[in-house]
Amino acid sequence: MDGYNRDGDLKPMDAEQFREHAHKMVDFIADYYKTIENFPVLSQVQPGYLRNMLPDSAPNHPESLDDIFNDVQAKILPGVTHWQSPNYFAYYPSNSSIAGFLGEMLSAGLNIVGFSWITSPAATELEMIVLDWLAKLLKLPDEFLSAGQGGGVIQGTASEAVLVVLLAARDKVLRRLGKNALEKIVVYASDQTHSAIQKACQIAGIHPENCRVIKTESSTNYALSPDILCEAIAHDVAIGLVPFFLCATVGTTSSTAVDPLLALGKIAKSNGMWFHVDAAYAGSACICPEYRQYIDGVEEADSFNMNAHKWFLTNFDCSALWVKDRTALVQSLSTNPEFLKNKASQANMVVDYKDWQIPLGRRFRSLKLWMVLRLYGIENLQCYIRNHIKLAEHFEGLVAQDPRFEVVTPRIFSLVCFRLLPPRNNEDNGNKLNNDLLEAINSTGKIFISHTVLSGKYILRFAVGAPLTEERHVTAAWKVLQDEASVLLGRL
Ligand code: PLP
Repeated sequence: MDGYNRDGDLKPMDAEQFREHAHKMVDFIADYYKTIENFPVLSQVQPGYLRNMLPDSAPNHPESLDDIFNDVQAKILPGVTHWQSPNYFAYYPSNSSIAGFLGEMLSAGLNIVGFSWITSPAATELEMIVLDWLAKLLKLPDEFLSAGQGGGVIQGTASEAVLVVLLAARDKVLRRLGKNALEKIVVYASDQTHSAIQKACQIAGIHPENCRVIKTESSTNYALSPDILCEAIAHDVAIGLVPFFLCATVGTTSSTAVDPLLALGKIAKSNGMWFHVDAAYAGSACICPEYRQYIDGVEEADSFNMNAHKWFLTNFDCSALWVKDRTALVQSLSTNPEFLKNKASQANMVVDYKDWQIPLGRRFRSLKLWMVLRLYGIENLQCYIRNHIKLAEHFEGLVAQDPRFEVVTPRIFSLVCFRLLPPRNNEDNGNKLNNDLLEAINSTGKIFISHTVLSGKYILRFAVGAPLTEERHVTAAWKVLQDEASVLLGRL
């Protein structure tokens, strides 16, 4: 025992106990970051590993913090995949930073539940201000700013963002057509759109046969073709269906494809559809003037989303969503029970973010983003992004120099899609070969990468974006890949 937290003497927020424990926790986390490269990046445990290591039930009496730290070291950390490791190159990054951590700490410390303005005016007002800052940094059109009919809101994830705007769009069209038209309304996205749209359609009750997944091709680098979209819409309209929602992506999950926003937005507008842009990963890059072009056409969008928790140094979770017409969201998601009524809300003087999201309760997440923007400043954030893109370019160059490999799609941001070429061009063999290579690499624990399938080909994904990654890590990762490839090819 630590000498406090005795039975019957619980003081869960005693300031001095808090200071002592929290200092120990910060030391523990700082040491974790100092030694993070010693861990296998991808956890190597087997399913169910923890069950036998921990007791069957919770303790009746207090245990000491030191004992718990020991368990974290011995039992929890082996089951952690180290997303913050400089050798983490899988999926997309999920950044932490000192600023993001401090914001998270302050948010946990204040521990308010800011569903209505009155429950903590600063939480609502800071969120509005910080999302206006970020909107200006991304050069989003003024209609997305909180001064007008629109505004920004922090959702937990891009999945929640697309769900809430889909609900708003659904209800908007059903108000016009009547409730019974649910079976007629159609959603459009590409086969590269994140599966979050499928889940959102399931939750929103969109009929599965009315979810159009438009096929993309390697010839357009897997971007959604406006012509094919037009054909699909025309076909649906001809049979009496009603197109109402289009989701475009800037930086698709598989290969960072960029859908042509301007052309797609015009099609959406001329068909009276809601146009949502998912820039969950690549949105962060668009704070750099040279990458802003990838969201040209966002003027046509009704909603725009980027995950600050991916590549913007803001600890998970923080997904920024902007809408041009906040009434559409509020009309779908607002409730007004007696127990939440208050003067400011009743007088319509304030934003109540509970009406812009699925849950009632919400955390003070804007503190994280505010800390990141203030402690780092725009120029540093731009350099941070550029450096990762440069490192990805470096990796791409290394792949291109080795004739046993090919880069599969042009690199735009910090993701390189590549594969080991199959001997004698036997494609079936190629997929197995690359799957074997992925397994071999990840089981070394030295680096962690992930995969996708494009046009039937199994592709390896190397995403640079962890905050501690330097050129030496990228170079060493390539050496691991080359060595494992040599072993595999030697066995064929
Ligand atoms: N959209 C894109 C383009 C993504 O890459 C991802 C995740 O990587 C998502 C949506 C889903 O993100 P979230 O986990 O925030 O729902």
